Amino acid sequence: MVTIDSLPNEILVQVVLEVRRGNPSDTDLLHCLLVSRRWHGATVPVLYGNIAFKNLDLNRFLQRPSLPNCADYVRSFTIRVRRSETPMPGATLEQMLDMASILLPALKNLKSFSLTDDMQLDTNLHTDNSRPVSSHVVVALVNALPSSCQSMELDVVPRDRRNSHTGWGTTHHVCDSVRRVLRRMRDVRIRLWWMCPALFGTTRGGAYTPISAPHLKTLVVSPHGFRALLCDSQDPQFMNLRSTWASITSALERFVEAQSQGLGDAKIHAVKIQKSSINSVCKTGVRTDILARKSFLYPLQSTKQDHFMIRQHDERDLVSAIPSIQTMLEGNLWVNTVGGARLPARVLKASTKAEFEFAISCVPQAPEMYTADEWRTQNPEHSTWVWENEAATGLKLLSGKVVEGEGYLNVEPILESTPRGWKRGRHYYASRLERDD
Ligand SMILES: [Zn+2]
Repeated sequence: MVTIDSLPNEILVQVVLEVRRGNPSDTDLLHCLLVSRRWHGATVPVLYGNIAFKNLDLNRFLQRPSLPNCADYVRSFTIRVRRSETPMPGATLEQMLDMASILLPALKNLKSFSLTDDMQLDTNLHTDNSRPVSSHVVVALVNALPSSCQSMELDVVPRDRRNSHTGWGTTHHVCDSVRRVLRRMRDVRIRLWWMCPALFGTTRGGAYTPISAPHLKTLVVSPHGFRALLCDSQDPQFMNLRSTWASITSALERFVEAQSQGLGDAKIHAVKIQKSSINSVCKTGVRTDILARKSFLYPLQSTKQDHFMIRQHDERDLVSAIPSIQTMLEGNLWVNTVGGARLPARVLKASTKAEFEFAISCVPQAPEMYTADEWRTQNPEHSTWVWENEAATGLKLLSGKVVEGEGYLNVEPILESTPRGWKRGRHYYASRLERDD
């Protein structure tokens, strides 16, 4: 008699993968576990292959008695800190991340690690649930990554920093830990509040020496927000550069030059969203491609809601929340998958090759992105200044830019133009064009 248990192994594995791809929650897979010992064996690697947690589930997972048994199957580990969620019962966020760092070395086949925090620094920091994680926790996590791990994403706001000049600060320096693992990494995404050239090299006796990272395929470095700062402004090589952006991009240039094997078709992107000027509601999204020595500038404007409009280089406008816009600016190098795992896009694309097979059960999740028409149909009461001004003047007032060669690192923010015969009001009304008669 032919039974479900007479399925050949390859087909059984395909069935389990389809179950996972069809249902990102674990419920259906848990049923597969119970069919038979064979089904159990085929299901466990898929169930634990790409684990992703928000605050509460991480706590539950870490408390599980069966944890050591599934450790070998974990290939990617995603932690998403969600500030809007209720605090974890019995453990602070820091304690939980500390527990995760104790677990990490046991994940001997881990390929990819992601820690992201949706914290908005502009919100107040008075409740326990809105404190940034401290840098010693981030350092503990990075240091605990097993040597098998080739991809890493850190998008966090560590609370403290190093400052050798004043002696104030901490000895837990996130950049030092990142640099140590960068040597073996293939895909890295770093978005930190504080960062410095120690990410890519060491300074001894006044000389900055970039490290070698021969396996690197993609690197995204993004100073967090507008007020991003250097960890240690006393680094003699970089102290004359005023901003984090200038120090980081110039250190990246030197890092790229120092790779003896060359970086081939790797993507090395520095990304920022900068405010244009005091009198402008326009922001500028910048992606600097260090290998191509080119910066791509995109105008952004608030829709007077949570969403922002981004004007692409073909002049089409898209509308989304800042996290999706940030992803787009970065060149979509890291993506969300259904079920919550965050992975390098390169790994997902190649997931049918043996090396990346662990990602085969992951389905990329399309970012929430609207065309201008879609968005305006859904939000007829909202608009952007530039849409209103362009409707009034009948002219295009805002365009993206590409800056190449000399000066590609020092990009000027994009401003909305003021056409002849029109003027801008003062302060808040500087956004609105009026006829100048
Ligand atoms: Zn640093």
